[in-house]
Order: sequence, then structure tokens, then C-alpha cells
Amino acid sequence: MKAIAPTFRRALRTAVCTPVNRLLNLVDPPVVVLLYHRVTTLISDPEMLAVSPDNFRAQMQHLKDNFPIVRFEEDWAKASKPAVAITFDDGYADNLLEALPILEETGVPATFFISTGTIGTGAEFWWHELEHILLEKQSLPSSFTLSDKRYGRTWSTATDRERQELYNSIVRLMNAGTAAQRDLWLMQLHRWAGTETTPVNIHRAMTVEELRLLAESSRVTIGAHTVTHTRLSSLTVEAQREEMTTSRQQLETWLGQKITVFSYPFGRRDEYTKESIALCRDVGFVKAAANFNFPGQAHRWTDPYQIPRHLVRNWPVEMFATQLRGFLTR
Ligand SMILES: [Zn+2]
Repeated sequence: MKAIAPTFRRALRTAVCTPVNRLLNLVDPPVVVLLYHRVTTLISDPEMLAVSPDNFRAQMQHLKDNFPIVRFEEDWAKASKPAVAITFDDGYADNLLEALPILEETGVPATFFISTGTIGTGAEFWWHELEHILLEKQSLPSSFTLSDKRYGRTWSTATDRERQELYNSIVRLMNAGTAAQRDLWLMQLHRWAGTETTPVNIHRAMTVEELRLLAESSRVTIGAHTVTHTRLSSLTVEAQREEMTTSRQQLETWLGQKITVFSYPFGRRDEYTKESIALCRDVGFVKAAANFNFPGQAHRWTDPYQIPRHLVRNWPVEMFATQLRGFLTR
């Protein structure tokens, strides 16, 4: 039953939404916003966030040949046919090193939403620290006990499957937790595994200097994506405001330009609140991007503070073209 329910829901959604969306698209041509995180080649990519440079180049060329490409922050009201916007989240160094040359080569613009707390620290994002500890280490103790008043429990970690289960559980906990909780739990995991928090180059975030180089390109717009990459719905309104204004101020100081757009960390409907949406408007952002569990097209009647996006995987261009046709109507 469990396996059938999501499939059935998807089928129902396609059956109902597709004809409705086709009609709406006739009334107002949609903008489909694509979401990327990384352009690089990885041996292990459990979150499936990386698109290989070859696939990314072919995807950009396909867009260039087939669609008008708009920028996320622009006013889309005048679009006369279905258009596409490209966005990146987080601020990985490969955005500058591997994605930008391809955007320049194909003449495609993109908006990069940057989580500022990791910029310039040489550190990795927390989910990669977890991967190193739990999925890449050869020998680990046979069980792990998380010491936490509310979430404390013990996991068996004797087999690869159990380690993967622990990884999944901890990711879920960390998605829901605060930055301070995350640091505490990471420290416990490091102590348990006997690992260090040494950054591994491949997963690092950009330095400030690299971010400046990225922002200098005429193809690039920079947006904010909080400081600590914490789920906003788990924060107080004041803490949410702090995440928004501090990340924007840091970016404005580093880059000497005005930052007008924002994307919610994770960005599913339950990961930000109506207060987050009001705050976005209140602190002066003109648009905000949601995430991939929030499919749909942007129309002139879409809430500018909840623009839906579609996550792009490491698809060869034929599969990308098929997915894109679906994005235009699903
Ligand atoms: Zn993010």
C-alpha cells in the first residue's frame, strides 16, 4: 500500500493538473524555474545534487536552442511564450569553477542563492560532513548513541545498510534542528567515529574572493539563502529575520551590490511558514524561491514569495528534454 499511494497520488495529480495547467499556459505563458546545486563529477553523491559538466553543457545548449531564458529576478509579465529561468542554491565552489565557464560559453544567465555562513570558512556544508563520517569510513563502532534530551536513541551501525539508515535518520533530525543542535550532534558523531572536521576540497563552499569572481560575470545574479542553512519553520520569527537580513548584508558588503532575491533553505511547503513569507516581503526582497517538492509553473498570478522550482538531476540531454516537457505542465 505504501508503495502504491505515492504512485497513485502522482498519477492523479498528473491526470488532474496537466489539462488544467495546459489551459492556464494558454492564458498566460508559464516560466519554469530550474534548480541546480552543483556542476561537477562525483564518485559518491547520495543526495544526487551534482550534474556532470558534459550533461550540464548539453542541458544549457538545449535550453538556449528551444526556450527564451529569463532571469529569476526579472519581471516575467511580458513573456509571450513559455520561458525558463536557471537557479543554483548553496554556494559550492564548483559553481564558479565548473558551472560558470559553461554558462559563459552557452550564453545562459543564472541566479545563485548563497548560504553565507559557510562562505570563506573552507568548510563543507554539514550534510557532507555526515557523509564522510557515516558513509565513507571503512571501520566504525557497531552502534551509535545520540545523546540528546529529546531525540536521543541508539542505532546499530554494524552493516552498510544500518549506517545508511543512521545517515537518513540524522539527516532528518538535522533538517529539523537548529544550527547549534546540528553542531552538537556533529561533534558527537566525530568523537564516536574518530574523525576530524577537515574540509575536503571537492565539497567546499566558495571563498569570498571566488564569490566576487562569480558575481562579476554579466550572466550571474546573486541572491541570499540564509546564513546557517537552517529550516526556517524551526526558528522563531526573530531568528528567521536575522537569517534573512544578515545573509543579505554580508553579501552586499562582500559584493558591493544590492541583493533583492532569496531562496528558502530546503524550501518545501512545511519548511517555511507564512511568517517567513511576510518577513521576506518586509525585509525588502522582491521575490523568493521555493524548492523542488513544490512543482508547478510561475504565472503572473503566482505568489512572488513562493516561486515553484524543479530540481534537475544528472540527466543526459534526451531525458532532460522529456522532463522539461513535464515541468511545463505538471
Ligand atoms: Zn540549500
